[in-house]
Amino acid sequence: MHVKHSGSYFLDLICILLVWYEYGMEDEAVYAARRERMVAEQIEDRGVRDTAVLRAMRLVPRHLFVTLPYQQFAYDDTPLPIPAGQTISQPYIVAYMIAALKLQPVDRVLDVGTGSGYAAAVLSRIVAEVYTIERHKTLVQYARKRFKYLGYDNIHIRHGDGTLGWPEHAPYDGILVSAGGPTVPPSLRSQLAIGGRLVMPVGASKRKQRLVRLVRRGDDDFEVDDLGPVAFVPLVGAEGWEREQGRE
Ligand code: SAH
Repeated sequence: MHVKHSGSYFLDLICILLVWYEYGMEDEAVYAARRERMVAEQIEDRGVRDTAVLRAMRLVPRHLFVTLPYQQFAYDDTPLPIPAGQTISQPYIVAYMIAALKLQPVDRVLDVGTGSGYAAAVLSRIVAEVYTIERHKTLVQYARKRFKYLGYDNIHIRHGDGTLGWPEHAPYDGILVSAGGPTVPPSLRSQLAIGGRLVMPVGASKRKQRLVRLVRRGDDDFEVDDLGPVAFVPLVGAEGWEREQGRE
């Protein structure tokens, strides 16, 4: 019987590592190409023209915001499952909602429903500071790691009930809510700056909503726009839907 000596096992190992590394590099190039196509075909061609939003969507590696089995679908025209029974929104809807916020580079934004952290990441490439809140602790832990790995240090993340906002850093120039509630939470209205914009799915049903934009014109003066039908996971909290027993 022929027995390999340990030196040759060492060479085998080096070869395996090299090939692994090369594949990794190729994946990044493949993902970058898919990302370009995603922005051109799913977002720009469908009418999102805000150059800062398009640039941010080109920058953020969406495949790093989903778990391994879903990475290959990260640039497809679809929402995808993330842990805790939640979803990362379809790329187009993320771009559309963020464009509807009409953001400026100096703005400070509150993002309710961090989920994977993808929308917060896109926001962080457009504005000065992003404050994001998520009610599921595991999602907060994953998202925090992603922000750190990517060096997105203008994102501040917290575990808690986002229907109550994050009063310590209010008022916000923009508020993005990525889960659907029965009404716009009064706490969020009150944390909006005068002239600030809020975009949120609102509806009487837990799974189907209308996308609504509020612009705060004065203390008690909000302009409301209906941006069309959407389907988001429920916003669960003190000023949202009640938590269902046994469902999570
Ligand atoms: N913006 C996310 C989308 C996540 S889906 C992304 O890019 O991946 C909506 C998220 O809202 C879910 O993770 C859900 O757990 C969270 N959520 C629901 N109600 C919430 C609440 N009251 N406060 C904070 N997060 C909430």
